Amino acid sequence: MITLEEERLREIRRHGVADYPYECCGLLLGRFEKDGGKVVLETYPISNAREESAKRNRFLIQPEELLKGERYARSRKLEVVGFYHSHPDSPAVPSQYDLEHAWPTYSYIIV
Ligand SMILES: [Zn+2]
Repeated sequence: MITLEEERLREIRRHGVADYPYECCGLLLGRFEKDGGKVVLETYPISNAREESAKRNRFLIQPEELLKGERYARSRKLEVVGFYHSHPDSPAVPSQYDLEHAWPTYSYIIV
């Protein structure tokens, strides 16, 4: 169960529009709740590090970008609770690639 305000979704969609026709990606920052749920309080956009030819249907977050995001989250007393990315011209359902590369405990939002 993941909870977020409509404004967070708007931020993600805006990022998706701005990066079109490439996939956008970013971090979901917030808190893990005791009941196993998550609350997203901020989004943290990251630039897609995939090579030009693959950016339309793949995204890549460089480890140093993830570290930067984690450091930022800590400074705000938040945690990385998940990731978001866009599917510019295909349905917002996880691809086989997405499923194979998803980490447990995190939530994934696709727009
Ligand atoms: Zn995807």
